[in-house]
Amino acid sequence: MVLGTILRQWAFLAIESLVGSQARRNLSISRKFGDDALGYFTERLDPAPTRATLAAVLHRAKRNKAFEDCHFVGLALDGTTGGRRRKKGCSLCRPYHHAQQEILGYRHHLVLAAVVGGDLTLPVDVEPYGPGDSEYAAGQRLLRRVRANLGARFIDYVVVDGGFATAPFLHVAAEAGWPVVARLKDNLPELSRAAERRFRSRPPDLAFQEGTDRVEIWDADDFDPWEGLQWDTVRVIRYRQHHRNGEVVEAYWLTNFSHQMSRRCLYYMAKSRWQIENEGFNDAKNRYGLEHIRHHHERSLLIVWLLTCLSLTLERLYRLRYLHRGSHPTRTAIDLYRLLLLGLSIPVVTDST
Ligand SMILES: [Zn+2]
Repeated sequence: MVLGTILRQWAFLAIESLVGSQARRNLSISRKFGDDALGYFTERLDPAPTRATLAAVLHRAKRNKAFEDCHFVGLALDGTTGGRRRKKGCSLCRPYHHAQQEILGYRHHLVLAAVVGGDLTLPVDVEPYGPGDSEYAAGQRLLRRVRANLGARFIDYVVVDGGFATAPFLHVAAEAGWPVVARLKDNLPELSRAAERRFRSRPPDLAFQEGTDRVEIWDADDFDPWEGLQWDTVRVIRYRQHHRNGEVVEAYWLTNFSHQMSRRCLYYMAKSRWQIENEGFNDAKNRYGLEHIRHHHERSLLIVWLLTCLSLTLERLYRLRYLHRGSHPTRTAIDLYRLLLLGLSIPVVTDST
């Protein structure tokens, strides 16, 4: 399944056809099997070893200095949906409704965690949540497990969207020993309004050029925590990024990093949140079939999501770090994919020496 995902032939039927073809010898797979075997197998697999493997891959990458060039290594968490169905098919199916509350169908929800640092976005774990459960409860379970599997020192900060900016989630991050950088949105109306009022009429605290963009940052670290949040104070930054075409992107972020963490570093941490959107979900869905249901069973879905994470992480480390040794430019994902596909048609020569 890992090979099938990297080769973008992730459907179980596609794997059946690959292992039944002449290409099998180049895949180093000893025997053929059918798509139903994969369904049967994934229904019965324990997810813990795959999660442990993902953590082991990350640890090995760190030992081999894959993150050497980045100042801070982040953990980005975000929720998404996939696998729509007309009828309920497993315990993870969550109904989605019409405005009149009529059930239109079912889909699956999961929270993805990815390690982000420099040019690397490496998915490390997922946590699904079914009916009666919630994104931010799943996010807390995921954060605790990543803390147990990766250890506290692997990660320098957690970056999340506004939906996770709730006291219980921020407290779990604090227990893990990780500061949080979270988007500040209207779901925290008092803090949002206080930050807007404070920054509205004063000049930025920092301005710098980033490529062709001009970036301005406002920063204050003495906002009151909202009720239930056990922080002494809340630090809020606002950035305004002026693109050369006149477009301006503005966002507010909250954090419990002290003033010793520079504004510019906080800005880059906030920006790393988009990596999970672009290189986490978009890539996994558009190129590696994350939304596609191979076999409609809650355990099978989870195993496939985890193996998709493992495939993406292996492909990126191999392409961006291992293959990059030497003076040639980094290969793009599509170039490596084409090379691997072409390699399947080359006859295998057995060297008996
Ligand atoms: Zn389902």
